[in-house]
Amino acid sequence: MRTATRALALLRPGSLAEALAMLRDEGPLVPIAGCTDVYVGLQFGTEKRRRFLDLWGLPELTRIEERGASLSIGAAVPYAAILKSPLVAARIPSLAAAAREIGGPQIQNRGTLGGNIANGSPAGDSLPVLAVAEATVVLASASAERGIPFTSFYTGYRKTVMRPDEIIVAVEIGPVEGKQWFRKVGTRAAQAISKVVMAAVRSPRPRIALGSVAPTVVRATRTEEALARGGSMEEAQVALQSEIHPIDDLRSTAAYRRRVSGNLLARFWRETGPSS
Ligand SMILES: Cc1cc2nc3c(=O)[nH]c(=O)nc-3n(C[C@H](O)[C@H](O)[C@H](O)COP(=O)(O)OP(=O)(O)OC[C@H]3O[C@@H](n4cnc5c(N)ncnc54)[C@H](O)[C@@H]3O)c2cc1C
Repeated sequence: MRTATRALALLRPGSLAEALAMLRDEGPLVPIAGCTDVYVGLQFGTEKRRRFLDLWGLPELTRIEERGASLSIGAAVPYAAILKSPLVAARIPSLAAAAREIGGPQIQNRGTLGGNIANGSPAGDSLPVLAVAEATVVLASASAERGIPFTSFYTGYRKTVMRPDEIIVAVEIGPVEGKQWFRKVGTRAAQAISKVVMAAVRSPRPRIALGSVAPTVVRATRTEEALARGGSMEEAQVALQSEIHPIDDLRSTAAYRRRVSGNLLARFWRETGPSS
């Protein structure tokens, strides 16, 4: 049943420091940014929590900037800003490709990268890109900041290492050497959750990650090794099948997801080969 908004409390900090202090002193609070995921839960009555912390527009969380050799993208940066960013276009075009296929313009204007990561849906379209870019998730509490390698961030289905007194402040992405590739397979181009989503990098050390094929995003390391040592596509596809664990659900079947994953792998390799 739809949640009555009068039952909800929203704390609105003016800075990151204030947000972290509120989280420490007035918690438990649920951080929200674009609220595109949380609102669905409130609308359907599945979101039972009642006290929220509004991170939308906090200046410290909405920057895209170079920090040393890395690109830092603030957690509350919406997809529309990712799409407009020359730094993203130059350094991680596969993230822009993912952003372009997340929802329609309304969702791209409100939905944020930090929200996609924290929500932890295995179908989150930005997650395979961050996995192959070997990104670092920067978490902050009122007392400390820590960086977690993206591939260690999830501990299970929608479970992460983030503590209740922490929020994601940014994602840091080092230089990505090689050709970047991204492909989402869904029922239609916009507003469709992925049936399978894959991001990859073609380099002497190929990197491959898939979403919607297991409880968390999968970095396909055995498949990567097969390709790196010059194994055939068939060998790599066999390795990939051992690394994914898709299920039947409303959107698709496990068999379809297995078949599409193998096909995407072959397509990635073909489209990024020496003659491409
Ligand atoms: C119609 C529609 C279409 C969609 N299409 C797609 C799609 O194609 N692909 C896709 O991947 N997703 C899609 N989504 C899901 C959603 O838009 C994305 O996951 C989006 O990135 C969520 O960001 P948000 O800022 O709105 O998150 P919110 O709803 O504000 O928060 C989501 C979760 O993240 C937590 N959170 C948010 N920010 C932080 C932070 N900085 N630190 C810690 N925790 C935080 C919240 O507590 C909550 O648990 C769609 C949603 C809708 C409603």
